[in-house]
Amino acid sequence: MNSFFGTERKELEGKIAEIFGVPKAKLRAETLFRKVYKQNPLEDYDFSELSQDVSAWFKNNYLLSVPLEISEIQTSTHDGSVKFAIRLKSDGKWVESVLIPERGRLTQCISTQVGCAQACRFCQTGRMGLMRSLTSEEIVGQVILAEKWRRENPDYHVASYQRISNIVYMGMGEPLDNIDNVIKSTQIFCDNLGLNFSPNKVTVSTVGLMPALDRILNETKVAVALSLHSPFEEERSKVMPVNLRHPLTHVVETLRKHALSGTRSSFMIQYTLLRGINDSEQHAQALVSLLQGVGAKINLIPLNEHEGAAFRRPDLGRVYQFQQILKNSGMVATVRLSKGRDIQAACGQLIKNKVKS
Ligand code: SF4
Repeated sequence: MNSFFGTERKELEGKIAEIFGVPKAKLRAETLFRKVYKQNPLEDYDFSELSQDVSAWFKNNYLLSVPLEISEIQTSTHDGSVKFAIRLKSDGKWVESVLIPERGRLTQCISTQVGCAQACRFCQTGRMGLMRSLTSEEIVGQVILAEKWRRENPDYHVASYQRISNIVYMGMGEPLDNIDNVIKSTQIFCDNLGLNFSPNKVTVSTVGLMPALDRILNETKVAVALSLHSPFEEERSKVMPVNLRHPLTHVVETLRKHALSGTRSSFMIQYTLLRGINDSEQHAQALVSLLQGVGAKINLIPLNEHEGAAFRRPDLGRVYQFQQILKNSGMVATVRLSKGRDIQAACGQLIKNKVKS
């Protein structure tokens, strides 16, 4: 059986064309997508618009369930964020996903891998190492499950939103280390007959793996965010070992190339501020020089400390000083005081104690 929620519409159309012929394949694939996604995924579907043979073939060949289940939830008493521990049915491993309500938007942060191979030194997930990558249906399934959970739990603050409005690939794992399944999942999210997210509401965050960075920029229209964290090569390598294989200057040059060619007009740059490590005036000025011509919007994130962390969070005065230097140089810079800190759901805090090897 194929998983419907891991299938792109053009793929389904191709299969229908093989079995029933080309002439009505496009229309039939459109009807199936409309029926499944517009009628609350995971509930009863009405396929009566399709001929009996197509509908029977579809039901016999496609699974209309998701290969994961919510096992635990935690709710932030501060801001209403909800963290899900999600069990992957195929092997019992776990990932986490977070719903974040904020100023009229409901954002879901999703995972792409169990653990992560990149070992960024400020990140809890990086301490787990990589266990495996998620399939496209496991990535898409996180959003479908969260929407279903919202429908069934109207008393939670996140249920008061009309729908999940934004998706960020900032959970467990490095998305570009699972590039095929990540690209496929973005196409399913952004299909106007599927989950119908606008590409600018979907953000893939990366440490900058090449050549996958070029692929996501060339093959999709979703927003891309680079986790930068230091403007100096040697220092970045100490905090993010990936920099030894994919040096910062090369990665930023790639963004600049795409900004100049018009593939994207801007990029989000994520910069986690670590006290006494990367929060000086010199760092702010070097960041301004490095990012010339990139169309950068810098998101400053004071470190979310966790048990055993080697770094400390700077005080807010220092954070706002850093921001001011960037703004004085004409950069767009915002400060993100992460949501969900009280439930260990903020950036760099996702780790599942129940993860099984
Ligand atoms: S910050 Fe992202 S890329 Fe780095 S270790 Fe954590 S999950 Fe992996």
